[in-house]
Amino acid sequence: MNRQNKIRKLAIMGGTFDPIHMGHLVTAEEVRHEFQVDEVIFVPTGHPPHKSHINMTTCEHRYLMTVLATAANPYFKVSRIEMEREGVTYTIDTIKELKCIYGNEVELYFITGADAVQKILSWKESEELLQICNFVAVTRPGYNKEELIQQIEELNKQYKTNIYFLEVPALAISSSDIRRRLKEMKPIKYLVPQEVENYIKKHELYNYQIRLTDKEKEEMYQYVASKLSPKRYAHTRGVVEMALEYAKLNGLDYDETFIAALFHDIAKEISAEESLALCEKYHIELDEYEKKNIYLAHGKIGAVILERDWGISKPSILNGIKYHTLGRLNMTDLEKVIYLADMTEEGRSAYKEKEEIKRLAQYNLDRAMYKALTSSYNYITNILKKEVHPIINELIDYYKQFDIPE
Ligand code: NAP
Repeated sequence: MNRQNKIRKLAIMGGTFDPIHMGHLVTAEEVRHEFQVDEVIFVPTGHPPHKSHINMTTCEHRYLMTVLATAANPYFKVSRIEMEREGVTYTIDTIKELKCIYGNEVELYFITGADAVQKILSWKESEELLQICNFVAVTRPGYNKEELIQQIEELNKQYKTNIYFLEVPALAISSSDIRRRLKEMKPIKYLVPQEVENYIKKHELYNYQIRLTDKEKEEMYQYVASKLSPKRYAHTRGVVEMALEYAKLNGLDYDETFIAALFHDIAKEISAEESLALCEKYHIELDEYEKKNIYLAHGKIGAVILERDWGISKPSILNGIKYHTLGRLNMTDLEKVIYLADMTEEGRSAYKEKEEIKRLAQYNLDRAMYKALTSSYNYITNILKKEVHPIINELIDYYKQFDIPE
């Protein structure tokens, strides 16, 4: 007999989970205990009938956050059935599909917010739904219970159904509050599992922004100073200053620019041997040119070090560090700013185009990139007598279109 055949009672945790939080997890565990169900299946909504999904986070993100949040509980599963169903998703179709999978005799408990249950009579095929499935209406503190209980009693009497009511104090946490906190740059630690917080930050969901305190900035300065020679550290401080000036003039995020500039050369003084070892350890991919000139990998390694030692995983910042040496096609403005600040900071010895690049970087990053790239190309081929990385030619070709007279 397989595991599915053994399941007699199944709870279905239906919700948007945008994002999933501790309140949802506590609710699911509470229902599991209270109703002695064998498993709780979390079903992130696909395209519910009552919601515009313009402002909703994509199904895939909501699904993956739910997987991360529930992974540690062997009684919790996550289902993609609503996400994968074409068109509008109705609970009746979900319940019927689950009955097909688990067998008609399985007893189902659909857990969801009381707000949703109160409108259940407007749901598709609600009468049948109430016959084939039990419901658990969960409320958060402050909810008008009397009205809900009365409504539930009437529904149970009229439709000979089983709708239960459960008050969950942990539901003082709400998804909308978490979204608001992220916009206001307030912490969400302990409101969602750590893995979910990391995921939100990594994927920059809900307009997540990094804001540093003066103390954190000071700690970062000290850390970087401890890793670099005085000369390289002085260059780094110069890049921070220059990058922040460009960021201000081009409307970029101040703290993101600060971090990318401060850490851009964090791996520059690591030996070739250690650089190779780090690339292997952190699965950093290198092209043939980088393998022959391993110092060029310091951007990629630096990004990994920032994430490893400071837990900063925001791609915009990591890419600012990663691409500051060679650049890449489709560079973001932050990547251009770090590239340009690196070439023009005050301490860097003067060269013919330096002042012109500095002037352009204040208001036209693309024109400044063209000047900077051609200057690098000339230096590498004419002075160093070396071959340039092929990306330099590609970038010069691309940025040439911006080199138009003022
Ligand atoms: P919602 O409007 O996002 O949520 C309503 C309230 O209930 C919110 O306060 C929400 O808090 C809370 N909530 C939602 N799901 C919860 C859960 N599983 N446990 C605890 N609290 C929960 O409602 P929804 O999430 O879109 O819909 C709930 C479920 O009902 C979904 O499975 C949906 O498909 C189903 N539904 C079906 C139909 C239909 O078939 N016609 C119509 C409406 C809803 P948080 O924001 O903190 O989660």
